[in-house]
Amino acid sequence: MENKKKQSLCPASTKCGGCQFVDMPYKEQLKRKQKRTEQLLKQFGKVRPIVGMAEPAHYRNKVHAVFAFQKGRGIVSGIYQEKSHRVVPVENCLLENQKAGEIIQSVRELAKSFKIKAYDEDSGYGLLRHVLVRVGHATGEIMVVLVLGSPILPSKKNFVNELCKLHPEITTILVNVNNKRTSMVLGEREQVIYGKGYIEDELCGRRFKISAKSFYQVNSVQTEALYAKAVEYAQLTGKETVVDAYCGIGTIALAVAGEAGRVIGVELNKDAVRDAVTNARINQIKNADFYQNDAGRFLTQMAEAEEKVDVVFMDPPRSGSTEEFLDALIRIRPERVVYISCEPETLARDLKYLTEKSSYRVQEITPVDMFPFTGNVEVITKIQFVEKGRK
Ligand code: SAH
Repeated sequence: MENKKKQSLCPASTKCGGCQFVDMPYKEQLKRKQKRTEQLLKQFGKVRPIVGMAEPAHYRNKVHAVFAFQKGRGIVSGIYQEKSHRVVPVENCLLENQKAGEIIQSVRELAKSFKIKAYDEDSGYGLLRHVLVRVGHATGEIMVVLVLGSPILPSKKNFVNELCKLHPEITTILVNVNNKRTSMVLGEREQVIYGKGYIEDELCGRRFKISAKSFYQVNSVQTEALYAKAVEYAQLTGKETVVDAYCGIGTIALAVAGEAGRVIGVELNKDAVRDAVTNARINQIKNADFYQNDAGRFLTQMAEAEEKVDVVFMDPPRSGSTEEFLDALIRIRPERVVYISCEPETLARDLKYLTEKSSYRVQEITPVDMFPFTGNVEVITKIQFVEKGRK
């Protein structure tokens, strides 16, 4: 096994498991994703050709590494081995933004010289647990989040000075405290130790504030392609009431606000909602409101209040939407629904439910390659309410 993979583009590929398609020509990767989308979704409607990337390497704007102590090596940084908690050291990853990778190496080397110990998950001993780096694709702003097992970073000032001296592009540094036995990277508590505590980036001509805990699409180039498709599928004329469900920091809502009468965003994560409200202000958008709530519960309340909605965007996490959400959607009966999904299997489940229970029909499906070299595929779907008697 080790021998066979010797020629791999990535020395960690046999252990990491993050890139199922690491050594496959890019065209072939796209073919596979097209096929998978068709197998799962063709039954609901026409599948268009996948939107691929011109330059697929190093697309990830968010890079994470875990720290561990390994005998003979000292502190190492890398990723968890597939299905385990063993850390595979990584120096150079094909997916990750290269600057972010260099910053992670510097954090590790500085930890050595500052004698900061890696956190040990079993004993809870040690301090430095993870590092998360986020790079603004358009702005170049960089956030570094040091995730610690306890709140105090010794020689904090010197550590920050040294790191910023090595990488003057860093615009903000945070400490996040995670002392729980969990596979989640970030804990609740955070403290800004340098800069403004968030980064800004630009997408679709708008500016967005992004906090450490907010969701932000990891592939900025493809996000613009995805949102352009979302705008096309929504067919807005300037008058519509639009819901952006699972809205994150409000990117879709704010990208379409100029072409709608009113937009309403709903999102569970409170930091993301706060960012969305700020983002409306930054972009001087006055017809957007954001609510912190479960999307299913929120939509049910809208249905009960008999609110009129013309278009719904929905972009749930991998687990997909819920029957509660879809039932409320059927009651509200918007003319169109644009469903963005990062997991075609749960999308297929939700489409089955929706089309069996209602007169909604899928008009078109487009896969978008948001995650080159991995087996994951993003899919955007245009769903239309079809009047009785018409098919
Ligand atoms: N549309 C956004 C975010 C998509 S990611 C974008 O393109 O950037 C999915 C989002 O759904 C995340 O921000 C997550 O916090 C949110 N979420 C997860 N479960 C939710 C729920 N039950 N109700 C509302 N939002 C939820």
